[in-house]
Amino acid sequence: MILTDTHTHLYSEAFDEDRKIVIERAIKNGVQRFFIPAIDSTYTKSMLDLKNSFPEHMFLMSGLHPTHVKENFKDELSHVEELLLSHKYYAIGEIGMDLYWDKTFLREQQEAFRFQIQLAKKNKLPIVIHCRDAFDEVFEILEEEKSKNLYGIFHCFTGTFEQAEKAISYQMKLGIGGVVTFKNGKIDAFLKNIDLKNIVLETDAPYLSPVPYRGKRNESAYLVNVLNKLSSIYNIDAEDIANITTKNSTEVFGV
Ligand SMILES: [Zn+2]
Repeated sequence: MILTDTHTHLYSEAFDEDRKIVIERAIKNGVQRFFIPAIDSTYTKSMLDLKNSFPEHMFLMSGLHPTHVKENFKDELSHVEELLLSHKYYAIGEIGMDLYWDKTFLREQQEAFRFQIQLAKKNKLPIVIHCRDAFDEVFEILEEEKSKNLYGIFHCFTGTFEQAEKAISYQMKLGIGGVVTFKNGKIDAFLKNIDLKNIVLETDAPYLSPVPYRGKRNESAYLVNVLNKLSSIYNIDAEDIANITTKNSTEVFGV
């Protein structure tokens, strides 16, 4: 069984004390492939260090996270673009819109999202979308930019069934993580109506721990808890779900 964590921030300060142990624990649980979304340039070095420590397991993304779009966002976007020239990256992410924390940089978030979508298309890379309190705004830009070269993952999908279908219509797979195990998570109610070919697994570690670790630091080993929940929702063996979702991740990332 090969599990793929399509979204994990293993370079985060939350793992500074025990990163190696955390990664080895995940590998022991069958999680062998880790896709690493970027936040901003302050993490570039730690991401490359992570890749160098576990070269066969780590797959990096380049991108500017919407909550980190500030006055200096144009410099940050140049950095995202420059990295593609010097290292191998497997996606542009995480990118998108977040109006939950702060709407001050709404225009800049839109501009950064558009720019990074175009960068992905130009480089034939998938995108990994972060969307919080911003479905309309994200869909508006996907509608403008849709093309056969635009595809990827709607990370930490928490919308409705209609929004799920809409995301899929833009060639996005749904990233499903700890929220699916929450009692009030809502997506478990309709997920079985979404074909498994549209699903990938993720933890978003160190955030959003699945039950029974809810509220604690999340780590990639807990992907198994997400896997088991999906197994009961779809009534399909966990091993089959692992294989299908890993295959789906390969389809997106090309590896
Ligand atoms: Zn993330």
